[in-house]
Amino acid sequence: MKPAAMLLQPGRADARAGTRGSIEKARTELPRDHSHDRIRRMASADRWHEFPDPPARVCNGHARAPILLLCDHATNAIPKAFENLGLQPDQLNTHVAFDPGAAPLTAAMAEALDAAYVLCGYSRLLIDVNRALSDPDSIVTENDGIRVPGNEGLTTEDRSGRVAHIYEPYHEAVASTLAWRLKERGAQVVVSVHSFASRMRGIERPWDVGVVFNRDRRLARALVGELVGVGKRAKLTIGLNEPYSPNDRVYHTLERHAETRGLPCVMVEIRNDELTTCESRQRWADRLAAALRRIVPSFVPDGRPLSPPGSR
Ligand SMILES: [Zn+2]
Repeated sequence: MKPAAMLLQPGRADARAGTRGSIEKARTELPRDHSHDRIRRMASADRWHEFPDPPARVCNGHARAPILLLCDHATNAIPKAFENLGLQPDQLNTHVAFDPGAAPLTAAMAEALDAAYVLCGYSRLLIDVNRALSDPDSIVTENDGIRVPGNEGLTTEDRSGRVAHIYEPYHEAVASTLAWRLKERGAQVVVSVHSFASRMRGIERPWDVGVVFNRDRRLARALVGELVGVGKRAKLTIGLNEPYSPNDRVYHTLERHAETRGLPCVMVEIRNDELTTCESRQRWADRLAAALRRIVPSFVPDGRPLSPPGSR
């Protein structure tokens, strides 16, 4: 087995998150320097046994469309050694532990667009890869009123183990995938895919979709323009920097990988009660893919059109 294939093997994480079918279907490739060994060498060997699953899964790495999709909160996977961080299984199956529906949505978008994507392999409860390490929300002891006992009283070693085995290798996988694609596939846009709960801390959220942007608003403006048209027909409520904005420090992954490179980027948040069935996820994947297919060519120098649906 090639080292790259080892990294990409669907594992328990996918099965638990309900994403296995989509991912197994996806063409999985990696640039050569993304090998499992390389990512493994970055981590301290002594705690490796605690983190048996791949920290990142790079799919369609060689895809043709100039788009990289990222899914930071793809799964609720928590290794056995952590004993569910003291939570009940039904608590782990909610937005508290991951973004329900976001991974299969990302896979379906990638399939529709012939785009590459990277999924994080562990629950945000172990460490949130979309938060700076200095952020108090990097490892939470409470989320939406749910106490996380397994995150209380962590030692420096506990924290650094999660950084070394999840945060760093995930970001390394994103960085090297992007570097390979910029070199081999030319200009890229980066789209971060998330889902949000319809109710948070007792407050209802009215938006169907949120478009989140920071200083570079080019891609967000174009995407909103497309979604407004769709929204009129489908009666969608679109949030601009809602339910989160970069002020909530949720733009970390895009800041780190896209903004610093000057790449057009945007974060898309779909309310997770709209992602509960294959049909509803496909509807959103088709909407977002259609919008990106129309707007992305104007963000890459050669303006080459993306493959039309069903052309591959
Ligand atoms: Zn998220």
